[in-house]
Amino acid sequence: MYCCDSFKWAIEKAGERGISIIVHGDEFYYQFRCIAHQQKEEVYQAIQDGEIDFAIKAMPLSRSQQINYCLQCGMKLSKLVKKYPLEYRALSEKHSVYIDTDILENTKQVEIRLTKKATQSFWSRLFQK
Ligand SMILES: [Zn+2]
Repeated sequence: MYCCDSFKWAIEKAGERGISIIVHGDEFYYQFRCIAHQQKEEVYQAIQDGEIDFAIKAMPLSRSQQINYCLQCGMKLSKLVKKYPLEYRALSEKHSVYIDTDILENTKQVEIRLTKKATQSFWSRLFQK
């Protein structure tokens, strides 16, 4: 159901930190995540505990750009959806949680007080896992 190994790899990376491809309806998005989907709650909690400063609070969890062709082999991606509609619908449902609103939107009621130093230690702890 994939056009090439790189596309399969990127689809399987959905929700992880780094680059991936997200299926959303019959559309495809190239996504860059600074935080894995699984780590979102931990980050929100750190914001509420005052462990992360305002600069981080304003940073989006992910950036996405729609793509119509595979970045590796050039396949027109709508052809894959036509050929494997059930498989891609299942992926779209699975990936729906990976479409993020940013941290600021989710935490605008939270008052942030701590220093940049505290923020840096938070990130190094998070990414050492
Ligand atoms: Zn491809």
